[in-house]
Amino acid sequence: MKQKKFPLAFWIFIGLLVGIVGGLVLMPLSNGLDIANGYIKPFGTIFLNLLKFVVVPIVLFSIASGVISMQDISRVGSVGGKTVVYYMCTTAFAVFLALVLASIAKSMGLFVPLQTSGLEFTPPEGQSLMTTIVNIFPSNALAPLVNASMLQVIVISLLLGFGILLAGEKGLVAAQLVDSFNEVFMKIMDLIIKLSPIGVACLICPVIVENGPSIIKDLVAVLAVAYVGYILHALLVYSLTVKAMGGVSPIQFFKGMAPAIMMAFSSASSVGTLPFTLECSERLGARREVASFVLPLGATINMDGTAIYQGVCAVFIATAFGINLSIGQMLTIVLTATLASIGTAGVPGAGMVMLAMVLQSVNIPVEGIALVAGIDRIFDMGRTTVNITGDAACAVIISKLEDKKAARTKAART
Ligand code: ASP
Repeated sequence: MKQKKFPLAFWIFIGLLVGIVGGLVLMPLSNGLDIANGYIKPFGTIFLNLLKFVVVPIVLFSIASGVISMQDISRVGSVGGKTVVYYMCTTAFAVFLALVLASIAKSMGLFVPLQTSGLEFTPPEGQSLMTTIVNIFPSNALAPLVNASMLQVIVISLLLGFGILLAGEKGLVAAQLVDSFNEVFMKIMDLIIKLSPIGVACLICPVIVENGPSIIKDLVAVLAVAYVGYILHALLVYSLTVKAMGGVSPIQFFKGMAPAIMMAFSSASSVGTLPFTLECSERLGARREVASFVLPLGATINMDGTAIYQGVCAVFIATAFGINLSIGQMLTIVLTATLASIGTAGVPGAGMVMLAMVLQSVNIPVEGIALVAGIDRIFDMGRTTVNITGDAACAVIISKLEDKKAARTKAART
C-alpha cells in the first residue's frame, strides 16, 4: 500500500527553518533575547501546554482501548514483555556505543582535563530503586491524572482495560465509552497537531538566540561525540531492527517519522511529542492497539538518546577531572545509565538530572555537570529525537511480530 502523503511534515520543516533563521537574526541584537523570550517563546509554550494537556487523556484512553481490543490479558503480557526486552537491550547498547565513542574521542585528545575548581551543582535527592518501583503504583485514582505521572497513568489505564475485559457483557458500556473518548481525544490531538508548524518555530527560535556560538565553543567536541552517537545508534540499531524484524525499509521509516523527529528536536520532550509519534508509527504500519501501549510506555521508560548522552558526558566529565575510568566502572555506567533512562521523565532537561545518579555510581564528582549544563538544551534536542525514534521502531516491530504470531495461530487452527 502506498503511504499517504503527509504535507504537514513539509510545513513543520518550514516552521523549523523559520525559527532557526529568526533566531539567527535576533541573536546579534542587544534586545534579541528579550524579544525571543518575551514575545516568541510564549507561543511555543502555549503549543507545548496544549500537547501536554492532551497527553494524559490520550494515554489513559488509548492504552485502555488497546487492551480491550486485544481481548486477552495474556496477549497484553506478551506484547509488554517483548517491548521491555527491546527497550532494555537497545538502551544498554546505546550506552555501550557512547562509551566506545567517548573513549576514542579521549584517546584522540578531544576530551582533556579542564579547570574544575569553582564548579557547583547540587545533585537532586536520590531515590532508592524500591521506592521508585513502589511509586509506579498509584494510591489514588485521580492524582496521577492531575499530576501527569505517566507510569501511574499507564498502570491505571492497564487496570481499566483489564477490568473491562473481565467484566464481560457488563463491561460493554464502559468499553464503548473508552473507545468513544479515545476517538474524541484523537480528534482533539489532530487539531493541536495542525498548529505544529507555528509551535515548532516559536519553540526553536529562543533556543537559537539563547545558545549562541559563544557558550558552545569549549564544548564542541563533547557535543559532536554525542551527536555522532545519536546518529550512529539511529542508523545502526533502528535501521537494522526495523528492516529485519519490522519489514519496513529504513528510508521509509525515517521519512515517515519526519514530523515526529522535527517535533522532538524542537520541543525536547518525548511526552509532548507522543501525539506525533503515535500518528507517524500508525502511518508506518504499527497497529493502533500495539502503538497505543508501546509508545506511551516508551515515552516514559525508553531513552536511548539520554543513555548515549549520559555515557558520553560521564567520560567527558571524568576526563575533565583527570579521572581514568576502569572497565568495571564503564560496566557500572552501562547498568546505571540503562536504569536511569527508565527513571528519566520525558520532559526537557530530565536526562541531565539523572546524569547525577550515573556519575555518583562511579564516584565522578557531580559538580562536573555544571560543565555541560549551559548547553543541555542542545544535547536534549538530539537525545529526545533518538528517544522517540526508538519508541516508534519498537511499535513497528512488535506490531509485525504480533501479525506473524496471529498468522501462525490461524494457520495452526486450519
Ligand atoms: N528530554 C528527554 C525526553 O523527553 C529526556 C531527557 O532529558 O533526556 O525524552
